[in-house]
Amino acid sequence: MNSDFAYIDVAVPLPVFGTFTYYVPEPLQPMIDKGKRVLVPFGSRKVSGYVLGLAASSDISGIKPIEDILDSKSLFPAEMIPFFKWISEYYYHPIGEVISEALPGGINLGEYLTITRTEAGRRATADGLTTDSEREILEVIGSQSLRIKEMEKHLGRKVPQAAIQRLENCGWLERHREIRGGRTRPKTERYVSAKPDIPDTDSLSDAKKKILEHLKSVGEVPAKSLNRVSSNASRHLKALQDNGTIRIFDKPVYRDPFGDKVSPDTPPALTLDQQHVLSNVTREIGKGFSSFLLAGVTGSGKTEVYMQAAANALNLGFTVLILVPEIALIAQIERRFRARFGECIAVLHSGLSTGERYDQWMRIINKESPIAIGARSAIFAPFTDLGLIVVDEEHDNSYKQESRCRYNARDLAVVRAKQSGAVVLLGSATPSIQSIYNVTSRKFREVNLKHRIYRQPPPDIKIIDLREHQGMRGIRRIITAPMITAIKETLAREEQVLLFLNRRGFASYPVCASCGEALKCKNCDITLTLHKGVNAYKCHLCGHTRAATAKCEVCGATSIKQLGLGTEKVEEMVQKLFPNARIARMDRDTTKRKGALVKILKDLRDRKIDILVGTQMVAKGHDFPNITLVGIICADLSLNFPDFRAGETTFQILAQVAGRAGRGTQPGTVLLQTYNPEHFSITAARHQDFMTFYKEEIKFRNTFNYPPYARMIQLKISGRDFEKTKKYAAIIGERCQRVKQSNPQFQKTIQVFGPIEAPLSRIASRYRWQILLKAAHAKPLHGFTRTLIFEKGFPLNHKEIRVAIDVDPMLMM
Ligand code: ADP
Ligand code: ZN
Repeated sequence: MNSDFAYIDVAVPLPVFGTFTYYVPEPLQPMIDKGKRVLVPFGSRKVSGYVLGLAASSDISGIKPIEDILDSKSLFPAEMIPFFKWISEYYYHPIGEVISEALPGGINLGEYLTITRTEAGRRATADGLTTDSEREILEVIGSQSLRIKEMEKHLGRKVPQAAIQRLENCGWLERHREIRGGRTRPKTERYVSAKPDIPDTDSLSDAKKKILEHLKSVGEVPAKSLNRVSSNASRHLKALQDNGTIRIFDKPVYRDPFGDKVSPDTPPALTLDQQHVLSNVTREIGKGFSSFLLAGVTGSGKTEVYMQAAANALNLGFTVLILVPEIALIAQIERRFRARFGECIAVLHSGLSTGERYDQWMRIINKESPIAIGARSAIFAPFTDLGLIVVDEEHDNSYKQESRCRYNARDLAVVRAKQSGAVVLLGSATPSIQSIYNVTSRKFREVNLKHRIYRQPPPDIKIIDLREHQGMRGIRRIITAPMITAIKETLAREEQVLLFLNRRGFASYPVCASCGEALKCKNCDITLTLHKGVNAYKCHLCGHTRAATAKCEVCGATSIKQLGLGTEKVEEMVQKLFPNARIARMDRDTTKRKGALVKILKDLRDRKIDILVGTQMVAKGHDFPNITLVGIICADLSLNFPDFRAGETTFQILAQVAGRAGRGTQPGTVLLQTYNPEHFSITAARHQDFMTFYKEEIKFRNTFNYPPYARMIQLKISGRDFEKTKKYAAIIGERCQRVKQSNPQFQKTIQVFGPIEAPLSRIASRYRWQILLKAAHAKPLHGFTRTLIFEKGFPLNHKEIRVAIDVDPMLMM
């Protein structure tokens, strides 16, 4: 009870920074607690806010009282409040909105309470133990289940929360939480078991005896399976249940997305390498914060280490959070965790229905689930006593949210582990430059798994130099003769082919038609973008411009062309070349519909597909044992994105997609077509050698002063009117310059680039401009940004213009 606290600190889910103080009227005081929602007057309206702090007194005058407390139980533990505050400050996102984003939708949308009268409540009214007003309430409820509003309507007056709470405390009334729109129930299956002391069975028929004997020897089994013991078993079951010899019941079953049942497993004995990693990690659990980078090729047994580390953390009494980049990958890892840990796993991701997410969330709050697996947003799982956070495929860009609060769940995992004194374990076959840098600067400790468990040889990666096929016409320029031969041979062996196009939505970029060199900015070393409006090539980081008539810097040729290629086009070409092959395409367009992705994956597994053409999506973690040929159509597509991370992304996706070949018993082949066979991103990917890649890449980051040697914040300015957006971007740009000039410290440390039109200059009918803020260290950069936003009282957002603040931006296009 918190009856000493009359004042509370409330965050409202509105675009306002800071929290607000309210007064808690006396009758509500016993129920107030951090993590609950309260109904408060805010300006002229009423909003629900979150209680973040409690105090006995306040110096502020004119404090308004809250109107109600909306939850009987806290929705998040008080330990998470500093985490929310950190996010709000670091990502410049109002704390109330951070929290409402963190909570599962069910709470904010359609959740409501119903109340019912208990048997004790009925007796209390009959025996005259209640006050008049309590009796009225209990009688109005009667034997129904009512929402509080409905009850008040029948009663003809408002009932304060405190009165409801009192009735609940007396055990006269119960509250139930329900979700509008109905909850999705867990899948169940009918099970049967024999009852313990079975009476005389002599009178039973032989068939019934047989079933009973079977049940006695095997314990509980699915009802369906009994058809193998006796035909017509279902008819006998009913009779057996009626005479009290068996029990029939529904049991939740967990299935993988292909509909297969998960059966329990036992942990394998670890390899020496795995033991080494596990003991290093386990030793730190419960001893405060520490962070590890686990580098290990796919199939080296990382997931097994995650599971055993999780088991060790649970044994020590801690909770465990496992983050996976994509919803599609959760099913795979979830299946393995369920096989090991059973039903105590909570799963959190945006693919669940509102009701399901709410249920999972409450299971964590109620301490029924000590392990959660989820995508990005699971970083908000309401755990206390966190012992271990695992971030699988830590290099993956999907950990960054690109709308609303632009957080990076990988980075937040480190923050949360620090705040809760937990161990954070980041794993990847192709660790990010940032994380390797953190190892070299001793922020992270590195642990390794160098070999595949079954010692399968790594796939054989052959490079096809596209420059040698320049002279070919039509399809054969894009799908070269050696590629065609390899596809033909693979299909002849009845094995599957994966054709991969790393396109990532960015249509085209300028290259020299004769030597294949991309047009780059001399300051930033990133690819220029053609802006048709001004008929010039521009660098979207620094604004450097070259005329549309520019020559190739390498060979001097004058014909610059826009190079671009889509999966649809490739699919069409392949169909022409192999008219009898069954071809499917997997990209953002073909997987939009719910269930479409799973269908493709299932067809692939069931060998209903011979050739799969796909984007990045196919590169991630999926396990297809029958794919023995992976063809990379043009490795350079992602290498030439106008992004300083283009090399890193290319290395990662090439190494990952190559890992898709030869996962089964047959060895795999990868054919990689490229204009840049000597580029280190490509040669390093060929050997799946992230350290060699790192050593080259880090020099480039250093020379051009990119992260991890610098910190960045990008202001993303967008609006529906081109002129207004441009003008407002210019105003913000001037403002940045003025703030910089106003402070000698800023003058020394802060660089402001832009405003400049974004390379994707229009998305969803909004024109886009950007300003880049850069500094060697986070502190001055954030000092500058805070001054820009708060001290100068500058409303960044404008009626018609949206300004998003992107801290540590990933997508700078
Ligand atoms: P990763 O997560 O690095 O891709 P996994 O943990 O999935 O690796 O391991 C690859 C395969 O090897 C899986 O099928 C897994 O069950 C198996 N495996 C992992 N560790 C062992 C072990 N110590 N003994 C036997 N099999 C193992
Ligand atoms: Zn530039």
